[in-house]
Amino acid sequence: MIAKRYEPFWKTIPMEQMSSSEWESLCDGCGKCCLQKLQDDETEEVYYTNLACHQLNIATCQCKVYETRQEKVASCVTLTAGQIDVFEWLPDTCSYRVLHETKDLPNWHPLVTGSNKEMLRQGLSVRHYAVNERTVSEEDWETHVIKWVHGMPEPHEIV
Ligand code: SF4
Ligand code: SF4
Repeated sequence: MIAKRYEPFWKTIPMEQMSSSEWESLCDGCGKCCLQKLQDDETEEVYYTNLACHQLNIATCQCKVYETRQEKVASCVTLTAGQIDVFEWLPDTCSYRVLHETKDLPNWHPLVTGSNKEMLRQGLSVRHYAVNERTVSEEDWETHVIKWVHGMPEPHEIV
């Protein structure tokens, strides 16, 4: 008898048709989307900083007010499958963006490995370098701009 091969939901269910719990479970918990971004007025290019939203628990990369986040932080964006066109501003390691672009999740993803250990081991969360936004004056934010290189931050200057 040939065993039936199990295909996980993210390979068989289109993102727009996932249940809310399936959708939520795609988030790998890296915390990168909770970093402040600066946008060039002329080119509209988005630059990430290493400055974390003040509601992010940097040690765990969890939002401290997840259920009420949009009441507490007006600029907080809730991702939905209907906004796939805005995914391009997400970091290129963000699991929603990766799944949208490649139709699969990376081999370090918690849904693939069963825990977040491999994601953390590879340094893909912000917990080692994020800084609370409220500890830095807004006029100095440009000095905190970073560029993602293989999911890791490198200092970057806005030219
Ligand atoms: S960047 Fe993507 S995967 Fe990482 S915390 Fe944000 S939504 Fe989740
Ligand atoms: S409110 Fe929470 S989810 Fe929204 S950006 Fe801040 S830490 Fe992230």
